[in-house]
Amino acid sequence: MSFVVAIDGPAGTGKGTVTKIIAEDLGLVYIDTGAMYRCVALEAMKRQVEPEESTELFEILDSIEIAFKKNGMLQETWLNGENVSNEIRSAMIDAKVDKFAALKCVRDKMTPLQRKMGETSKIIIEGRDCGTVIFPDADVKIYLDCSMEERANRRYKQYLEKGIKATYEEVLENIKQRYKIETQREIAPLRKAEDAILVDSTKLTIEEVVAEIEKIINEKVS
Ligand code: C5P
Repeated sequence: MSFVVAIDGPAGTGKGTVTKIIAEDLGLVYIDTGAMYRCVALEAMKRQVEPEESTELFEILDSIEIAFKKNGMLQETWLNGENVSNEIRSAMIDAKVDKFAALKCVRDKMTPLQRKMGETSKIIIEGRDCGTVIFPDADVKIYLDCSMEERANRRYKQYLEKGIKATYEEVLENIKQRYKIETQREIAPLRKAEDAILVDSTKLTIEEVVAEIEKIINEKVS
C-alpha cells in the first residue's frame, strides 16, 4: 500500500534536512526530487550540453539512470552507476540547475520516474511540485516556507561549512533569482497546493519543524 507525504517549498527552508529526519523517524522512503534535477544538470554539464532542448539532451535523458541508496544514516545519490552525492551540491550545479529543471523534456522524464518511485512504498518526497504535479492526491501535503533573508543566511552558513566561497549578498541574490525563476516558470512552478498545510520555518529550529510536521502526519494516520 502506498502512502505519500509531499513537502514543497523554496530553497533554503530546511526542507532536505527535516525530510531526512522525518523519513528516519517514521520509516518512510525518502525521495529528493531536486537531486534528480541536479543529476540531469551534472550529466549535461559533463558533456557540455546546454540547458535547451537538443538531440544531445534527449540522448542524456533517454539513458540516464538515477538511484537513491541508503548507506547507514546517509542517503546517496547515484547517477549512471556513480555516487555523485557531493558533486551535485557544487556551486556550479547550483548556478545552472534551475535552467535544466525548467525544460519540458527534462520534467517529462523526471515526473514519471518520481511517481514510479512512490508506487509501492510509503514515501516522503520533497521538492517544488510534489503536492501539485507529481502526487496531487498525496495523503499529506506540506508547504514549507521561510523568509528570504533567513534562507540566504542558512545557505551561506552551509557554504562556509563546505568551504565554498561566496558572500552573503551573492547568496541572497541567488536565492532571490531562483525564487523568481521557480515561481514564474511555465511548467510546474513552485506554489502551495490549495490543500497543503503551511509551515513557516523562519523562527523555528529544525527540531521544531520536524515536530510540527510529524504531528500533522500522525494526526492524518491516526
Ligand atoms: O531542492 P534543490 O535545490 O536540490 O533543487 C534543485 C533544482 O531543481 C532547483 O532549481 C529546483 O527548482 C528544481 N526542482 C524542481 N522541481 C522539483 C525539485 C527541484 O524544479 N520537484
